[in-house]
Amino acid sequence: MTHPYTAGLGAGVVRYQCCRDCGAWQPMERHACRACGGLQLSWRDAVGLATVHAVTEISRAPDEAFRALAPYTLVLATLDEGPRVMGHAEPGVAIGDRVRAGFLRFGEGTLLRFRRE
Ligand SMILES: [Zn+2]
Repeated sequence: MTHPYTAGLGAGVVRYQCCRDCGAWQPMERHACRACGGLQLSWRDAVGLATVHAVTEISRAPDEAFRALAPYTLVLATLDEGPRVMGHAEPGVAIGDRVRAGFLRFGEGTLLRFRRE
């Protein structure tokens, strides 16, 4: 089965985990809620709006598949719902920029790629 996050990207949505007991969002995939310890975590669709938290320019791709994309920009972005996600971004984005999630078909999968709002 495809991972819910990866499947979400394929469907054009960014997903994050949320506690069914108390509603707290989770900072990364977890098995128990960070707030209440509840085990009923589910995946929710984010709206796709975020603020750039960190930016890295990649000039040398880590593997052959990504060489076609280089140079490219990676960002750590804070979704309006709270969680932080890593994704590609259009060149020139800066910390604090408001961005919207986009989805780039790449090979067999889909990459999260942010562009400025
Ligand atoms: Zn909880």
